[in-house]
Amino acid sequence: MTTDHAWMARALQLARKGLYSTHPNPRVGCVIVADGELVGEGWHVRAGEPHAEVHALRQAGERARGATAYVTLEPCSHYGRTPPCAEALVKAGVGRVVAAMQDPNPQVAGNGLELLRSAGIEVASGVLEFEARELNCGFIKRMESGLPFVRAKLAMSLDGRTAMASGESQWITGPAARAEVQRLRARSSVVLTGADTVLMDAARLTVRGDELGLDAETTALALQRPPLRVLVDGRLRVPLEAPFFQAGPALVATAVPGCEEAYRAAGHEALVLGQERVDLVALLRELAARGANEVLVEAGPRLIGAFASLGLIDEYQIFMAAKFLGSSARPLLELPLERMSEASELKIVDIRAVGDDWKMVARPAS
Ligand SMILES: [Zn+2]
Repeated sequence: MTTDHAWMARALQLARKGLYSTHPNPRVGCVIVADGELVGEGWHVRAGEPHAEVHALRQAGERARGATAYVTLEPCSHYGRTPPCAEALVKAGVGRVVAAMQDPNPQVAGNGLELLRSAGIEVASGVLEFEARELNCGFIKRMESGLPFVRAKLAMSLDGRTAMASGESQWITGPAARAEVQRLRARSSVVLTGADTVLMDAARLTVRGDELGLDAETTALALQRPPLRVLVDGRLRVPLEAPFFQAGPALVATAVPGCEEAYRAAGHEALVLGQERVDLVALLRELAARGANEVLVEAGPRLIGAFASLGLIDEYQIFMAAKFLGSSARPLLELPLERMSEASELKIVDIRAVGDDWKMVARPAS
């Protein structure tokens, strides 16, 4: 059993190499072990290219016969853009398959493991499942609920403030925290912001390779698949000349009808969702329908507050700078609550130092 865990840990390590590139697919790693020896390994690099199992089987060749294959996700059983991996494992003659978790994709959901079993292969599932689920939290949530996994990035002072009353807010945190934010953007399918942030901070929400702090190979992969930048602009306050639009094609979610053509002509896309204000649930559903697994929200207190009050945020990434901005500065989010019983309960899942700042990761307690 401990051996299974160790090999699965190696497979997860490989899967993580696809953190920035597999969208809309899940990150998957595979190792093939014969007589206690690693004979093949692989990971899924990007959509349309071979799955992890195919890479690992190619490397193992004849040595796959009778070997054990460790896969971080149930091998697929359906014909997608590539033939099913479960069949490839059967053909290669592996003796045993260990999966970290079942595939949440309704097209697979146990069929892959069943196909292996019916071919006489010994099958086990659930080894390091927690870690495997965390790695693909967005893909799993999209498959199970039709919504993406939503992360909100916030930066605040120790007194819980994000900007001066004037709106002046740049550089609360240091360079290490900014690199971390770059990596959060790069792993996301979508980076979403609001008109306030774009107008106030001239935000572009792009991924910059030189600020990622990753090795050259991973940086290149991340830059090949930049996240879709989405602007929530209910009343179309942000002009097309803004740096946000100049930085590349973007998607605007608005409540102003009839604006689609103007944005299309400028190389962008406008989606009219809702009347008076943007229907955030409809927006997230639309993004999930387009394959968005993880959405990073980097916005001001109003938009973050709107997402939070609708219960749409799965995780808060809160960067804390060791400074006070004072009691007239702006709060972390606008969440008008009256009674203690209405308090929004969070569970802290991680807290650590990032350069001179601290980062807390918290999720809704329920
Ligand atoms: Zn596959």
